[in-house]
Amino acid sequence: MNPFTYERASDASAAIELAKGNAAARYLGGGTNLVDLMRETVERPEMLVDVTGLPRGIEPRSDGGVLIGSAATNTALAADGHVRRHYPLLARAILAGASAQIRNMATVGGNILQRTRCRYFYDNAAACNKRQPGSGCDARDGFNRYHAILGASPACVATHPSDMCVALAALDATVHLEGPAGPRSIPLIDLHRLPGDRPDIETELKPGELITAVEIPPLPFARRSTYRKVRDRASYAFALVSVAAAIDLDNDGTVRDVRLALGGVAHKPWRASAAEAALKGRPANPESFRAAAEAELAAATGLRDNAFKIELAKRTIVAVLGELTGDDA
Ligand SMILES: Cc1cc2nc3c(=O)[nH]c(=O)nc-3n(C[C@H](O)[C@H](O)[C@H](O)COP(=O)(O)OP(=O)(O)OC[C@H]3O[C@@H](n4cnc5c(N)ncnc54)[C@H](O)[C@@H]3O)c2cc1C
Ligand code: SF4
Repeated sequence: MNPFTYERASDASAAIELAKGNAAARYLGGGTNLVDLMRETVERPEMLVDVTGLPRGIEPRSDGGVLIGSAATNTALAADGHVRRHYPLLARAILAGASAQIRNMATVGGNILQRTRCRYFYDNAAACNKRQPGSGCDARDGFNRYHAILGASPACVATHPSDMCVALAALDATVHLEGPAGPRSIPLIDLHRLPGDRPDIETELKPGELITAVEIPPLPFARRSTYRKVRDRASYAFALVSVAAAIDLDNDGTVRDVRLALGGVAHKPWRASAAEAALKGRPANPESFRAAAEAELAAATGLRDNAFKIELAKRTIVAVLGELTGDDA
């Protein structure tokens, strides 16, 4: 590990002031990802600004939404009564990730900004355009079982690893930021970028910007929601494919509204807008679910080891919607 200084910020302004103008400064949440990357010398910050002193409240809004401080731990968020009642898909997504010990340390801000788990990104001897722009991508012809089937580019086929973000994408969450140029907010679904020819630029964050909170709007029908993660092992495994879903049915069983997002398939949490559009107004049955899944995955492409994920994603969408509507056929 390279030498670095450590500062602890009491609030957002103090954190921003400490990091201001220093491209080699990094905000530190629970450290469960950043410290690993420092150990592998993929990240070499000169200064860590500990932001675990920022707000960690989980505040229900009068309209039914919720405001979550960026320093709230993953454990606290998954255990929160309001979240479990109104947004079960979010609690389930968080509990499907990592281990209890890691969730106790991991913060909401850090979870959103965790880096890809592509093994070549962590290996300084490998070619990786994300770690070293222009060096190539060893994953394309290497071990790519966990890699992207949607939205990838020749430069990078990595996936975003967060389970929590998939649920937040389905819920239309907004991320509140504060930085040297002041506060602003951005929809979570627009925060992470697709790789294009610059996979090293992963988000729309500006230099020195800090995540201060995440806000989820009210969505009454999210009470009927869930998260399913398909993975190689029951714990300590990232998603091959995951699906966050919420559905609202008319009395005659027609889909009035639906939210779907996928994990493990793209460089960012993937909002399944084509599937949502295909489902609205259709009867909630396996045929409609399969047609929606086909629509979403129509543009998917596979690599040597991950082509199976295209069919897996379709089947997981159908299974999750069946579970939510009681039509498990
Ligand atoms: C063995 C293992 C298994 C795991 N399995 C899963 C899994 O199955 N699913 C899953 O989703 N995750 C999994 N994780 C990842 C884990 O969820 C993340 O490491 C964790 O959420 C990161 O949160 P943190 O607070 O520790 O972030 P840190 O490591 O502190 O920071 C991560 C990044 O976010 C930045 N950052 C932190 N806070 C802020 C802020 N407020 N504003 C701006 N930037 C900030 C840091 O600078 C850094 O770049 C696993 C991790 C491990 C080690
Ligand atoms: S997939 Fe992306 S992160 Fe992985 S080696 Fe290729 S460029 Fe690097």
